[in-house]
Amino acid sequence: MATIHFCPQCHCYTLQDHCPHCQTKTILNKPARFSPQDHYGKYRRALKKLEASE
Ligand SMILES: [Zn+2]
Repeated sequence: MATIHFCPQCHCYTLQDHCPHCQTKTILNKPARFSPQDHYGKYRRALKKLEASE
């Protein structure tokens, strides 16, 4: 599985250990599903609500 890296220099995402644009060493960006903000929480709840209504 590919890991997403983030370049703090140009604020872009890449799969490389180093940014293809500025060659800065990128930092590992955790997948969204592990985010404490839970971006998909609202979506999941909406889906659950949708399933319940059927
Ligand atoms: Zn960069």
